[in-house]
Amino acid sequence: MVISFKAPCAKLENIENLWLQLSKVACNLKCKHCYLDCHQDTRKRNFLNMDIIIKTLKTPPTELKRIYLTGGEPFLYPKINDVIKYSLIKADVTICTNGTLFNEKKAKILKEIEKSTPHKLSFKISLDHYMVGRNDEYRGQGVFKKVLNALKVARKYNFECFVTCVNLKNEDEYVIKKGFETLFANQGLDIPISNLKVVPLLKIGNYAKYYNITDNSQSVSFEDLDNFDINNLDCKTSRVITNDGVYSCPALVNDPRGRLGESISDASDSVYLETQTCYECIKRHDNLFG
Ligand code: SF4
Ligand code: SF4
Repeated sequence: MVISFKAPCAKLENIENLWLQLSKVACNLKCKHCYLDCHQDTRKRNFLNMDIIIKTLKTPPTELKRIYLTGGEPFLYPKINDVIKYSLIKADVTICTNGTLFNEKKAKILKEIEKSTPHKLSFKISLDHYMVGRNDEYRGQGVFKKVLNALKVARKYNFECFVTCVNLKNEDEYVIKKGFETLFANQGLDIPISNLKVVPLLKIGNYAKYYNITDNSQSVSFEDLDNFDINNLDCKTSRVITNDGVYSCPALVNDPRGRLGESISDASDSVYLETQTCYECIKRHDNLFG
């Protein structure tokens, strides 16, 4: 008997969002729930080759709207200012950061860089709770305070800020948003609540190790897609450039099932929704990253 397995797939429309994974999995933090299994080991850093960046952006995708600079922690990248400038010449840029390495000196430099280009620079900063203890329990002691400072500096220099919150304890999203609204107001942060993105906890990477999660076998069935608009998925409009090839979305850069080929020209394939992370995406009914 022949058993055939067929997973649903998402076909790329256009590359509107291009992600450059600058620091691979190097980070200055080691959050308990990091889906990328990031580490602080300076000997194992594997920064994205500048030649790959230049080659990728030389002829950017025709529908490109935004370049996301990500990691690990992108501010660890040695030539981060050059990458920001080069990227801003091509499209709007969002730096996805934990915020702890961002300060007034950097803000000043980045404002000058932004002014010299035709596009806008924004920040997507991680803050997993509106209460200090709940955030720092996972991200590390003192991180909450540093993130608030980073947000204040970024707003002082008029950079648009987005905040990403991982819903660590599966709390009511309405309550989370109300909590952040109060936090922003109390801190004098003019960040609209629509710029807060609450995302589900992905039980992979550090989280799986820390909490000994071994079962990651759930995948997407055709029935799961019955009432789901597949166009919401990041992998319909995004690709990630890494040192070891092009991937379907930021969540799968450590998973061979997310790898589509060597370079951006190999990125037009359909993506099979065969991982547990894909299943979490579908359940969320919205994109995880963009
Ligand atoms: S979750 Fe973000 S800040 Fe935390 S270790 Fe991972 S990459 Fe670093
Ligand atoms: S994790 Fe989500 S965005 Fe990534 S490939 Fe799967 S369905 Fe697409």
